[in-house]
Amino acid sequence: MATATTTTGVAPAKKPNGQRKPLPAPNSDFYELKDVLTADELAVVKKVRTYMEAKVAPIINKYWADDEFPFELLPSFKELGIGGLGFEGYGCAGGSQKLFGFVAMDLARVDASIGTFFGVHSGLAMGSIYLDGSEEQKQKWLPPMARFEKIGCFGLTEPLVGSGASGGLTTTAKREGDSWILNGQKRWIGNSTWCDLSIIWARDVADHQVKGFIVENKTTPGFSVEKIEHKIALKVVQNGQITLKDVRVPEANRLQAGNSFRDTARVLRMTRYMVGWASTGVQMGAFEATLKYAQERLQFGKPIASFQMVQDLLAKMLANVTACQCLMVRLAQMDDDGKLGDQHAALAKAFCTAKSRETVSWGRELLGGNGIVADYNVARFFADAEALYSYEGTYQMQNLIVGKAITGLGAFV
Ligand SMILES: Cc1cc2nc3c(=O)[nH]c(=O)nc-3n(C[C@H](O)[C@H](O)[C@H](O)COP(=O)(O)OP(=O)(O)OC[C@H]3O[C@@H](n4cnc5c(N)ncnc54)[C@H](O)[C@@H]3O)c2cc1C
Repeated sequence: MATATTTTGVAPAKKPNGQRKPLPAPNSDFYELKDVLTADELAVVKKVRTYMEAKVAPIINKYWADDEFPFELLPSFKELGIGGLGFEGYGCAGGSQKLFGFVAMDLARVDASIGTFFGVHSGLAMGSIYLDGSEEQKQKWLPPMARFEKIGCFGLTEPLVGSGASGGLTTTAKREGDSWILNGQKRWIGNSTWCDLSIIWARDVADHQVKGFIVENKTTPGFSVEKIEHKIALKVVQNGQITLKDVRVPEANRLQAGNSFRDTARVLRMTRYMVGWASTGVQMGAFEATLKYAQERLQFGKPIASFQMVQDLLAKMLANVTACQCLMVRLAQMDDDGKLGDQHAALAKAFCTAKSRETVSWGRELLGGNGIVADYNVARFFADAEALYSYEGTYQMQNLIVGKAITGLGAFV
């Protein structure tokens, strides 16, 4: 595929002495937020950034266009040592929620699909076991997952039940001696077409509560997955529709501390926080790619970045980026202080994903026709922002969570 630099050609502005003045390199950390990281944290973030720029950026547009996951990256991705970031013990990477957030942001700054792959595996799947599993379950499953030897997915959404999952799950779990029998379908499940472990949320027919199960999907009879085709966003992530037909799971694989949807919601709180960071990263990537293009692209004999109306949109893009970064840093402090509530995560998820849609659309606009061609990166950010806006709970659902917290009145139905 062509790169964005092949068609633009730049004539940097001349200094009075006739020498060319180099233009500033695009920088989406305008308020120098990296200063809130410790030296050790900054080293991890830099390692991730270098990896994403060197290994992922050169190949990701092709995988995106082809609807394929870059399995060739997995061996080197494992070496980053970020499996289980934010979780202590069990071979997990540990670290502060702030570090977890900056890493999520930097993954998405280059590619939201790779960020989502990581979020589904390390956040949703490992997080379910970390938050809702017994000590024995954590000891057994988390170390190989932290090493990316076992990859996980998270099966909550169903073909007929998305936003209404808390009360409306139709997948059933029936206890039979030391086993459970699962029946139903799950839709949109990221990584599910190829991963090793599926966290399946199902309603216990006895007490009607939602419970979580670890299903070893490659070897369990009755478990099948069909890839969801023809997506226009996050095309690198392989989303599947799972069918569970009399799937037998041992009681030892039921998440022992997950006894109702409240326990599922604890996992979602943590991952919605992460989507706030990821959608901020998407905006950073789109802003940097757009600014670079605008500095290089000549019209009327000048870089388009020299035009007032173009600078207005660039400034508005950067304002969105900076507002989201500042909001997320404060949320990280609250999370690290144990103060993160569902309503705080929901506000950030709704705000940052909404701002992300605005930011990427301005970027797409500033690339003109090339803004709809994947080779120039911005089109990929533009499309992927749509998926982040809807997954992990839609904009409306997040604002209903905030609305209930601030008014004291639930308005979900
Ligand atoms: C790319 C992608 C990856 C995903 N990955 C996963 C995954 O790994 N695991 C998983 O379990 N799920 C996953 N999902 C599912 C995702 O969480 C759902 O798509 C999301 O929760 C919305 O559900 P839905 O698509 O069924 O929409 P619906 O619930 O049908 O909603 C449709 C519209 O109605 C609105 N709406 C619904 N109820 C209300 C209400 N009470 N008030 C106001 N408006 C309302 C919604 O906001 C939305 O705009 C993924 C989705 C996508 C697109």
